[in-house]
Amino acid sequence: MIKYILKCENKHEFESWFSNSAEYEKLRKKNFLECIFCKTLKVKKSIMSPNVISKKIKYQDAKPALEQNKFLKVKKDLIKMREYVEKNFDFVGKNFTKEVKSIYYDKKNKRNIYGTATQEERKELQEEGIELASIPWLKKEN
Ligand SMILES: [Zn+2]
Repeated sequence: MIKYILKCENKHEFESWFSNSAEYEKLRKKNFLECIFCKTLKVKKSIMSPNVISKKIKYQDAKPALEQNKFLKVKKDLIKMREYVEKNFDFVGKNFTKEVKSIYYDKKNKRNIYGTATQEERKELQEEGIELASIPWLKKEN
């Protein structure tokens, strides 16, 4: 089996397997090679230049770093969110459910709070039409 990178007249590139190079030539002459993207029959073998290969390797090497950066960015955002909540919201801890209800039903008692709620408490609040937002609470240090 041999793998070729095929390229169509519209510059689409895709991989295709052949049992050998003669099979590729045969299929090409019979116009059996078709671009998988635009269906044109004007497809030919793309020359794998060292440039293309090295680009590919670089991309693969770079990928874990990209993922890592993405993760760190999300983490940074979550920590920012945590800091924002800590600064602007009152911490009520386990009294959260009770406090949420008092805020919800007493319109004068308007303040931002945060705290913890059990699974049942969340369900209970939901049944009363109170939607909670929960955010992943990340530690600031690693
Ligand atoms: Zn194409």
